[in-house]
Amino acid sequence: MAKCDQGYLCDICGEEVEDIRESDLYLRFVTGQIDSQKLLGSAERHLICNPVVAQFIIDDAFPPVTVEGPFGKSELDSDYVTAQEALLTRGWLRLQELFEISETLPVPDYPLEEFRGRTA
Ligand SMILES: [Zn+2]
Repeated sequence: MAKCDQGYLCDICGEEVEDIRESDLYLRFVTGQIDSQKLLGSAERHLICNPVVAQFIIDDAFPPVTVEGPFGKSELDSDYVTAQEALLTRGWLRLQELFEISETLPVPDYPLEEFRGRTA
């Protein structure tokens, strides 16, 4: 998603997802949950519109998200929560970094190191 491209619309709230820093789709891509094929064909949404994922991002610059009910962190296995927080926080930090460098970086190099090279 180049900065000059028209943004994609969030399939939850209908507003534009303005850049990679707030993209749920790219967070899933950099954390190895989807490949680059799916990246092109999947619906975009804001991270904050997907609280079940956003609750795992722990950073001073990211407003904390709380989820009630069965998918909330308090209901989940603590090892799983710890692992998800580590992964998704790193993924989110990667998005902040990509916002600065994505114009010069090929898409296969976007993901976190351990998830690179999985896609053609
Ligand atoms: Zn949204």
